[in-house]
Amino acid sequence: MVAKDLRALPAVDKLLGTTEAAEMIAEFGRPLALEAIRQALAEARARLKRRDSTAPASEILLNRACELLNAWLKPTLVPVINATGVILHTNLGRAPLSPAALHALQGAAQAYSTLEFNLEDGKRGARAGHAEDLLKRLTGAEAALVVNNNAAALLLALSALARRRKVLIGRTQLIEIGGGFRIPEVLKQSGARLVEVGTTNRVHLEDYAAALAEDNIHLILRAHSSNFRIVGFHSEPELAELAELAHAHALHLVDDLGSGALLPTERYGLAHEPMVQESLAAGADLVCFSGDKLLGGPQAGILVGRAELIARLRVHPVARAVRADKLALAALTATLEHYIRDEAERQIPIWRMISTAPRLLRQRARAWAQALGAGQVVQSQSAVGGGSLPGETLPTWVLALEGPAPDKLLAALRRARPPIIARVEDGRLLLDPRTVLPEQEGALLLGVGNALAGR
Ligand SMILES: *Cc1c(COP(=O)(O)O)cnc(C)c1O
Repeated sequence: MVAKDLRALPAVDKLLGTTEAAEMIAEFGRPLALEAIRQALAEARARLKRRDSTAPASEILLNRACELLNAWLKPTLVPVINATGVILHTNLGRAPLSPAALHALQGAAQAYSTLEFNLEDGKRGARAGHAEDLLKRLTGAEAALVVNNNAAALLLALSALARRRKVLIGRTQLIEIGGGFRIPEVLKQSGARLVEVGTTNRVHLEDYAAALAEDNIHLILRAHSSNFRIVGFHSEPELAELAELAHAHALHLVDDLGSGALLPTERYGLAHEPMVQESLAAGADLVCFSGDKLLGGPQAGILVGRAELIARLRVHPVARAVRADKLALAALTATLEHYIRDEAERQIPIWRMISTAPRLLRQRARAWAQALGAGQVVQSQSAVGGGSLPGETLPTWVLALEGPAPDKLLAALRRARPPIIARVEDGRLLLDPRTVLPEQEGALLLGVGNALAGR
């Protein structure tokens, strides 16, 4: 019986000759289509041997092959609509880029470029020259260097300046940020030795001074606590005091700022996020920060500071291993130009989101409620995210959708095209207009409408 059924299965060549197979080949290419058909046949054969079924018809086998092809080539990195109200959402790719940054990125991607070419003399040029000039102008630094991300910037700085040497760091700053990135482990990886100073909640200048009695200390590192906040009995020395102490002992002070704001966050009703310019003015010899946090650009790690130190970093082997790619450099340059032209708040999406007045958010949420004929517009809070300004929120207005199963609605929205990412609070599903890009609004309303209708 089984043998007869097995013989009844169509041959690969017969299936390949069908119009359905021709369509699969046109869409997915012959090798993959063939693999899918073979797998569909193998599955059917296995079922027959288990006596689970009789020989399936050709259409069923072809449908299964098509299903496999779609599953294998299902896109996994797709654009989504961020309705969470978390502006720098690390899991959703942090900062969306400005139109100018996108344009620059496309230009650098599509054709050859002057990445390392000097048009004036026709000789080799500096890879990140333009971005670095803009960074110097914006921050007042003597020199700048752009690498792949801030974790790489820190690793490079420590490898080049503190290998086989000791680095002082306050115990309040031995942080782990997202993705298991831990400052003590980066130090270890760089070959530097960690010397902890003070206690978990309080570190005094005298603690640093006392620790300096040890020999072979080469550097003081300060790391921005980024994603947490110590409340209560807490103190740390000012950066300027640390710089003075470091310089009195002929040491360098490296400041890992994390988000690296170039604009004052207090302008928007937030707490003050340490700015790059301030760190340098306070005497830090080297400051590192991310390109895709409060800067609002592409993933990058930026180092600014003393020319002599940047020059040492530039020639270190780690620098080559962590260099920035041309697409990031193009987008970063365009993003920095927004700051130079004093148009960052209007042009850089994350700053536009941070600076949007609650009144306008309320208007948008109301328009959504009207278009959907559902939900209530209520006050809520947006967050900056991305390890900047922990615990700080911005007042916002959201569309709240009530229903028996908010988690089911949340999941239905994730299946929308493009997927819509929202949050549930107090049994209600909230959609925050602050982080929804204006050009995504139509798709948002369509997706939410379908999910509400159970389609
Ligand atoms: C975010 C952060 C980093 C890592 O930056 P990436 O650009 O994500 O590599 C390092 N240090 C601090 C303090 C941070 O907040």
